[in-house]
Amino acid sequence: MKVTYENVMIHGENFPVRIERRKNLRRLTLRYDWEHSSFLYRVPYQLSSNEAKERFHSLLEKYLSSLGNEKNLRPYHGDRVYLFGEEVLITGWSLMSDKARFLFLKEKLHHYLEEKLPYWEQEFQSKNHPFEINYYPSYYGQNRGKGNLLRFSIMLVHYHPRIIDSVIAHEITHDFISNHSKDFYSLLLTHFPDYSLRDHELRTNQYKGENYGTN
Ligand SMILES: [Zn+2]
Repeated sequence: MKVTYENVMIHGENFPVRIERRKNLRRLTLRYDWEHSSFLYRVPYQLSSNEAKERFHSLLEKYLSSLGNEKNLRPYHGDRVYLFGEEVLITGWSLMSDKARFLFLKEKLHHYLEEKLPYWEQEFQSKNHPFEINYYPSYYGQNRGKGNLLRFSIMLVHYHPRIIDSVIAHEITHDFISNHSKDFYSLLLTHFPDYSLRDHELRTNQYKGENYGTN
């Protein structure tokens, strides 16, 4: 694997891009890597660097337009940070290391989950769950072993509580039904009627939960 770094300018802000050239890679992928505050661009070895560059811009455009609003790209701008869906001032945030940010956010989310998880366990009449918080690049929540362990992405801390709760409810539903079948959604919606809306907000980085209040 060959790794290089570049920068990309988006709406006047500079973003680092980590470019990984890999063998045995079938397609290009671009995602935002929250753990390292940079874009991660994976490129198959055989692709020319010109083509990689061109494809980067079209992938980036696609990614940005999926968010709908440039402000949704990251949950912070300077020292203003979205916490539980509200933009608050955290002095020194922009100077904090990734690790310090992680520990700060983890404490907040941990506290929230400790309070809120029992509420949803009662709502679903489920068992009690131990949980872990970390950067999980490919999911916001995960239920391991039918409720033996729940995992929650640290990124949830930026979202409106109702959006966080939609992920909690989704994962608890997996105690009863492990796949995403019709039965799964019918049980989930019984306890969480506005699930689809919250899920959409989560996937489009609408930290504030713009559509909140319609339910
Ligand atoms: Zn699921």
